[in-house]
Amino acid sequence: MNEKNYESVIQESVSAQKWWQSVPAPSRGELIRNFANALRQQKDILANQIVFDSKKILSEANGEVQEMIDICDFAVGLSRQLYGITMPSERSNHRMQEIWQPFGVVGVISAFNFPMAVWAWNHALAIVCGNSVVWKPSPKAEGCALKCKILWDEVCNDINMPEAKSLLIVILGGNEISNWLAEDRRISLLSATGSTEMGKALAPKVAKRLGRGLYELGGNNAMIVTPHANLELAKRAIVFSAVGTCGQRCTTLRRLIVHRDIFDSLINDLIKIYDKLPIGDPLDPKTLVGPLISIDSVLKMQDVLNQCRLKGYHVHGGEPLPHIDNCCVKPAIVLIHEQCELVKQETFAPILYVMQYNDLEEAIALQNDVTQGLSSCIFTDNLQEAEIFISSIGSDCGIANINIGPSGAEIGGAFGGEKDTGGGRESGSDSWKQYMRRVTITTNYGKDLPLAQGIKFDI
Ligand code: NAD
Repeated sequence: MNEKNYESVIQESVSAQKWWQSVPAPSRGELIRNFANALRQQKDILANQIVFDSKKILSEANGEVQEMIDICDFAVGLSRQLYGITMPSERSNHRMQEIWQPFGVVGVISAFNFPMAVWAWNHALAIVCGNSVVWKPSPKAEGCALKCKILWDEVCNDINMPEAKSLLIVILGGNEISNWLAEDRRISLLSATGSTEMGKALAPKVAKRLGRGLYELGGNNAMIVTPHANLELAKRAIVFSAVGTCGQRCTTLRRLIVHRDIFDSLINDLIKIYDKLPIGDPLDPKTLVGPLISIDSVLKMQDVLNQCRLKGYHVHGGEPLPHIDNCCVKPAIVLIHEQCELVKQETFAPILYVMQYNDLEEAIALQNDVTQGLSSCIFTDNLQEAEIFISSIGSDCGIANINIGPSGAEIGGAFGGEKDTGGGRESGSDSWKQYMRRVTITTNYGKDLPLAQGIKFDI
């Protein structure tokens, strides 16, 4: 894509949005309803494309398509809501209210690991909110983006609304495309999902033009397991969250903080489970751990594990498995005695750092002592411990779960995190408000013109 082509597709998106913003929101919802139906029909094809691009196992790829269907259903309902509020005016015969208007063109930059769902989260909400979307997918998962674009266009044709095809523009390419979107004033909202490095590169460009950014960046998620935990539940949650998607979820469990009284037995049990994990072909229904996305990721994982060994940490597993696939690895458990800089960085691979704690205050301090703030959880059946964990002195993350692992969020809640995770919120709850423009309206239905704060200005 050269700059001339870029100019032309952005113009197309701007024009489409100008038309779309006048279409009633419930009718905008109808388009998403039709798209959701198409997703249901094409679920297998789309899931296979996700496996092909991202190498995640088929069951998780099916879950990703289901997540797209769920957010579309949510958006259809939302299209009949998008509520504003009214508030009392301090002046007689006046009324105050807020309404929400379409915002413009939404730029979406997505990561490889959720090659369809991240876009769908943004797209479904952006469209019912009256916007158009320009999507720059990960260069590692362009097939997924093309499949979605083809499906979108088919749906628009099928419902006799070919002009709606321009509501979704897909631009393939690398960092230069992200930079153009970040610097382009016509992009009303830039929603960027990926590494913290990416967010730090793009956010200043958006800020320079005083644009709006929604950042969903890296995580370094922890679980606290207390002596009051149901350990059978905890073990299942640990394994799914730490090795699911081969450790390549933003919400992957990376740090396990275990009370010293249960530490040895829990870690021994985990090692036994890790030793039996079915690793291999992501299309084989028996596989639980598929390959990493690339050889680079394998090498990065090995480098980090070597640094761990040099620090004297005990590393269990982690070795490459080239006899299965060049990108397959055995998930690693690393016993650490201090939370060093290595542990504080997000390595996008199945490495689980485990550490001991003595009291809950110490465990929460360890959990919060990283720059990222995406997801967190505690396993306990003790009410006091659970409530402290989610209180103001507890987890500092955007997601704080009780007796559920840090990964595998439902679409109904707002999704996102604090600190280096970027502060954005997507998906459910009132995240839709970020895709709209808030207008405060004061109406005077009286015969006088009283000024606010009692100011006198008689002429
Ligand atoms: P990535 O940052 O390498 O790439 C993400 C997107 O940003 C891609 O489209 C890429 O082309 C673009 N990009 C990357 N670096 C850029 C730069 N310097 N300038 C401009 N554009 C740039 O991320 P990835 O490897 O595809 O995905 C893994 C990362 O994404 C992890 O850090 C993970 O935690 C994060 N992630 C976060 C969430 C979330 O919701 N918080 C969801 C999924 C993934």
